[in-house]
Amino acid sequence: MDAEVHVLVFPWPRQGHINPMLQFATALVDAGVQVTFLHTEHNLRRLAQASPPHLRLLSIPDGLPDDHPRGFLDFMEAMCTTGSTAYHALLLSLVSASDAPVTCVVADGTMPFAIEIPQELGIPALSFVTHSACSYLALLSMPKLVELGETPFTADDLVSSVPGMEGFLRRRDLPRGLYCTDQGDGDPLVLKFAEVIGRTSKACALIFNTAASMERPVLAHLASGTSDVFAVGPLHARSSSAASASLWREDDGCMAWLDGHEDRSVVYVSMGSLAVITHEQFTEFLSGLAATGYAFLWVLRPGMVQLASSALLREAVGAAEGGKGRVVEWAPQRDVLRHRAVGCFLTHAGWNSTLECAVEGMPMVCWPFFVDQQTNSRFVGAVWKTGLDMKDVCERGVVERTVREVMASDEIKAAAQAMAQQLKHDVAEAGSSSSELERLVRFIRELSIRPPSAELMETRAQAAVTVSGL
Ligand code: UDP
Repeated sequence: MDAEVHVLVFPWPRQGHINPMLQFATALVDAGVQVTFLHTEHNLRRLAQASPPHLRLLSIPDGLPDDHPRGFLDFMEAMCTTGSTAYHALLLSLVSASDAPVTCVVADGTMPFAIEIPQELGIPALSFVTHSACSYLALLSMPKLVELGETPFTADDLVSSVPGMEGFLRRRDLPRGLYCTDQGDGDPLVLKFAEVIGRTSKACALIFNTAASMERPVLAHLASGTSDVFAVGPLHARSSSAASASLWREDDGCMAWLDGHEDRSVVYVSMGSLAVITHEQFTEFLSGLAATGYAFLWVLRPGMVQLASSALLREAVGAAEGGKGRVVEWAPQRDVLRHRAVGCFLTHAGWNSTLECAVEGMPMVCWPFFVDQQTNSRFVGAVWKTGLDMKDVCERGVVERTVREVMASDEIKAAAQAMAQQLKHDVAEAGSSSSELERLVRFIRELSIRPPSAELMETRAQAAVTVSGL
């Protein structure tokens, strides 16, 4: 282990952010770097798995009681106040430790304070982006889009001001909030994300969990900006037993259920860890799925369908025509996608789910829910052609038709498998993502061993005074 380099890795404390950053932390450890991984106290209590070896885990409070639902805006507010105060104090102690002080921070690009505080203290800070590069660029372009009136809307007009996507990106493919209304001045949630990304893009480097083979033109455009850009993904594909930290208990029973099915005969359905759907949408999905005649495995987290208990949902799925559905509250998703019985994934097109599908060569049916997912699903349907995009429509007939088409299409299957093949090369030794990871480790090492800046000397002196005054 290189004692001169000690990286603090700090994810936005949500499932879709913790896993890729944990895999990133593990990759750094494999490269001989000392890493401390920062959770919230609330999440650390919930984690089902043991932490990966050689990774030190620390936690800070998020300021909310355990039973708080942690909706985005409340959660962000709590993290920016209680969380950031605790983070500041922790950083002070970590950078001034006499033994292996922290030399560099890699923080989630969703939290400006997590990058700005170390920068103020004179510690180099890099931003880790857990979204796709294409949705990141679309979000960065948001102020310009608002100026031109090209805001998200359910319309097919092409958007002219997201660089490199002029030929295929429509207004309905732009990042959006929960509801797609034509708010000329932009959706408040999306504008908040755009502001956050605008701030964290000032980190000294941007790290994307993507591969150049998936998003080359977008990455090239981002690299022409001020920060260094590294495309090191898909990180989970580096090893068949990639690290994960599940906030829910996985229901492994579904693997034995899958064993009892023919090859490529099951539709796997999951909307990730955050989406909440209406009862009406649940009914349309259920009717459409039942009408396809395929068996399906559906992840329905408790509370995921508005105003309905888990027991009632299970009953409804069991009673659906054909009785071929199985419900779980949380699945071992990567194992499910790898299972020979699964023929397609009906997904919200969250970036982790999209990457996990891509790595397994699994065809997708996309029903994007919010923010980055609208842009991801457009890339699936129109650029990579590894699936179909239902976009704004949630009707039983459309669900049935789209699932049938994806399950039967040899072209989509071939495109998905070709992408999987390419990604295996990308993460193998000398592949583009592996080379990028090596370049990134060198970059972090150089930042860590250079003489401390005046700000960092000042920070260490202040920390020493605080300690001696205790
Ligand atoms: N996931 C899982 N089991 C499930 C559903 C999801 O392990 O039953 C994992 C999935 O493998 C992925 C993450 O949760 O790594 C969801 O991240 P994504 O970016 O797809 O969506 P988000 O939850 O952020 O909307």
